[in-house]
Amino acid sequence: MGQVTEQQILDALKSVKDPERGEDVVSLGMVSGLVIKDGNVAFALEVDPERGAKLEPLRREAEKTVHAMDGILSVSVVLTAHSAPTQQTAPQQQAQRGEAAAGAIPALPGIKRVIAVASGKGGVGKSTVSVNLAMALAAGGYKVGVLDADIYGPSQPRMMGVSGRPETQDGKTLEPMENYGVKVMSMGFLVPEDSPMIWRGPMVMSAIQQLLNDVNWGELDIMVIDLPPGTGDAQLTMAQQVPLDGAIIVSTPQDIALLDARKGLNMFRKVDVPVLGIIENMSYFACPNCGHQTDIFSHGGAQKEAETLGIDFLGEIPLDIEIRETSDAGTPIVVSKPDSENAKVFRQIADRLMAKLDGADTGKREMPKIVVS
Ligand code: ADP
Repeated sequence: MGQVTEQQILDALKSVKDPERGEDVVSLGMVSGLVIKDGNVAFALEVDPERGAKLEPLRREAEKTVHAMDGILSVSVVLTAHSAPTQQTAPQQQAQRGEAAAGAIPALPGIKRVIAVASGKGGVGKSTVSVNLAMALAAGGYKVGVLDADIYGPSQPRMMGVSGRPETQDGKTLEPMENYGVKVMSMGFLVPEDSPMIWRGPMVMSAIQQLLNDVNWGELDIMVIDLPPGTGDAQLTMAQQVPLDGAIIVSTPQDIALLDARKGLNMFRKVDVPVLGIIENMSYFACPNCGHQTDIFSHGGAQKEAETLGIDFLGEIPLDIEIRETSDAGTPIVVSKPDSENAKVFRQIADRLMAKLDGADTGKREMPKIVVS
């Protein structure tokens, strides 16, 4: 069976009509960013922002149409708004967040708390921390879900040791995947790991909205969102549009020195998402032979920085081969070696986090309303 071509997909999509405008999505120029990789297809339908919610059936129809073609393994269609949020001015963004504070961001039914794990840049261990934190919370008796929002480089399927494709029972919502008692959803289940993610900001947002809203998460005590690395528009938009109770910043000592982590703090502050604390990862090197601690970088930088910025320091995680091997093998250390010192560190961080969330003021409900005239 030959590779499906772009033209064949566009031909098939000519049968999908925009209900309001009467013409098909191809003639209307709505299809963009088409990617085909070994039978896996992803594209966006560009729509006016105000029509977004109404066009969900159109998105599904487009997905179904392509899925019905021969040789198609998976299809991901996202709705993307013409006017990119990146073009918004700061006051507009603030106004949006202000509305959000007043309840405009719809709460997620059944999900009690949502936290984001962020980092100033990639490779600092954000995903490793997210997965181990999720496992530690689950070990503490909480019902936990992990949303891998790092759609450019989803690593949760690998880190949680889950593969395969999510199923749907009603043809509308996807069932989340699950391992070690923790639910997980990731673009990595829908698009193969090696396929190029060339999505632009607005597409990223609607992909994440779908992972959040079109998944049957059920009842969760806490959802941990593994954000894409960095503090760009995609992260900012997400912080504005997802009902976050707070964010955690993961940083290495060098990252602190380079002020990348501080950018993360500023980003969340700008949109009034409470920063629950900083975690210093790869904090010091624990020798696997003798247990001796070596501060290879400037260990302790995050704690000092947290103090300076008036933010809680949630803990430090050593650079340890065991952490790398277990998370990369899909057996996070908190579940595979629960008695280890490292697992203990993650559990302590989870405890501090929950104490912080359960404490009176995470800021979310008492958040002042920003009024921009
Ligand atoms: P990010 O999500 O920030 O891009 P990852 O969580 O994917 O980073 O981590 C990058 C790499 O570093 C992975 O191979 C991971 O296993 C490894 N790693 C993360 N934290 C540690 C640690 N504390 N000790 C050793 N290796 C780590």
